Amino acid sequence: MTDYFEVHARDGAARIGELRLSDSVTTPGLVDDVMEDAGSLWAAERELPDGSEDVLTVLPHRSLPAGTADEVRDSFAVEYPDVDYPSAAVVTPDTAEDYGADAYILSDAQGYLGHARAFRDAIIEAKEALPADSGLMLSGAATPRNVSILAYAGVDLFDAKLARARGLEGFYLTTDGEYFLEDLDELPCACAACQQSVEEFTRADCAEHNANALAAELARVRRRIRDGRLRDYVEGQARHDQWLTATFRRFDQQYSYMEERTPVIRDSELTAASEESIDRVEIQRFADRVTSRYKNRFDNPLVLLPCSAKKPYSESQSHRQFQEAVQFRAHMVSMTSPIGVVPQELELTYPAQHYDSVVTGDWSEDEMRFVAEVLRRYLKRNDYSRIIAHVPPGAYTEIVERVEEDLGLDVEYTVEGHPTATESISNLMSTLSGEPKFTREQRENNVVKALADYQFGDGAGEELFSNVEISMTSRYPKLQVWNDEGEQLATMVPQYGMLAFTLEGAKVWYDSDAPTKVVEIDGFVPHGSVLAPGVVDADEEIRPGDEVVVEGPKAFAIGRAEMSGPEMVSSMRGIGVEIRHVEEK
Ligand SMILES: [Zn+2]
Repeated sequence: MTDYFEVHARDGAARIGELRLSDSVTTPGLVDDVMEDAGSLWAAERELPDGSEDVLTVLPHRSLPAGTADEVRDSFAVEYPDVDYPSAAVVTPDTAEDYGADAYILSDAQGYLGHARAFRDAIIEAKEALPADSGLMLSGAATPRNVSILAYAGVDLFDAKLARARGLEGFYLTTDGEYFLEDLDELPCACAACQQSVEEFTRADCAEHNANALAAELARVRRRIRDGRLRDYVEGQARHDQWLTATFRRFDQQYSYMEERTPVIRDSELTAASEESIDRVEIQRFADRVTSRYKNRFDNPLVLLPCSAKKPYSESQSHRQFQEAVQFRAHMVSMTSPIGVVPQELELTYPAQHYDSVVTGDWSEDEMRFVAEVLRRYLKRNDYSRIIAHVPPGAYTEIVERVEEDLGLDVEYTVEGHPTATESISNLMSTLSGEPKFTREQRENNVVKALADYQFGDGAGEELFSNVEISMTSRYPKLQVWNDEGEQLATMVPQYGMLAFTLEGAKVWYDSDAPTKVVEIDGFVPHGSVLAPGVVDADEEIRPGDEVVVEGPKAFAIGRAEMSGPEMVSSMRGIGVEIRHVEEK
């Protein structure tokens, strides 16, 4: 059981952790000064160290190089003792398992640093085998340039050994690269070690600077994790080294590892600025849910629109003009890179109103292929009486034409030159003449059901809300959903475009055929939050940010998951669920 490491925040596989020594260390961070190595068993028989709460004691170990045969590995395996002070065990991805330590050091890291696929496989193998609430350490691996990607992959603890050693060899490290000390005309840094002229700057100073630069980069990484924006940073930072770019692409290919750890909602903006943005979990998940869970409920024609830089779209100048022309006679769906397609009911849903991308109108072939594929899947799943494309010439039109031909559709085009040009707007208006309008009530009901589909699964909107006559109080986007007996079931949360249940709504969800995410707890009544040790079992599909039912012998509650289901089950520390409403049984 880990007593001295706790995870406080998560951003994908990266976490903010706390190594609870007498002076706590926040991770990802450097632990050089607080580590005590009990030594290698190769050199001598070792006494079990006394340990102390001031340091992280590395238990006596026997490291083997990467690629050691299994038989050899087994015969030299170390029995790790159970100790009551902060401890770290030395493992390889093969030998990684729960030894009761607070942290685990991968001994063969040198073997796969620089090899993107091998590094990814090693980290994932180790992380899957180790308890979620223990720290993972790479020793002699971190530089100011690579540490953000190492943390992004899920590594928590580092030392400055490599950075210092490079300094003593005459290499000056920065977040974007390294320089021969002799080649520097001036010191490109303002840290304490660099407060002197380049002529006086020694290799010892250089080692000091390298450690400072690493510490500063780790502070930036921690800030990014707290903001939920490490990925945006990593996409840029990885550009400075081929293997770093290759590494995070490899992690993108391991979708399930990243998806399990990526929250379903965030407050923060998502910057989609590189070609890899398409592959990130948030984007793929949205596209997947829109084309496999969401279902159109309007009987009206479809109008495809270009996205706007301003979010939500409906508040932009251009979309206000489109709305005035459409007059509730069509279902409006926006096309956008890199999200794909956004039906009007989901325009607030994360990350549809949270992403920011470069709006030049010039899309790469990858972007066009992605948006076309999402549109194709969307139109295969949803039938419309008419499809009207009110999109500008160029990429947008080309995508619609591709899909039109592919699916044998008949699309009407209404733009002359520019979508907001007077002629275009009047085309849009007249092409819809005679089409019936939908009511505000229909629109609001469809929003609530669409959110349920998106959030809980295909068909959930019907499962949850079709047997009751629902009504709304308060205006969009702060919809409150009531049943015909005057009980409130849910509230729409405008910041994320998601539904939050009341206790009554949670019961409807629990009793419905829609997939329910349940956290099973011990015999207590939770108030405020459920801590991981109180969790008996949790649905594997639970993701951070998910709406969850909490149930135990004494309580029924509804809340929001703070960690994934698998993490709740394997953790002994940390908040599993924030409770919103609870009822004693
Ligand atoms: Zn410096």
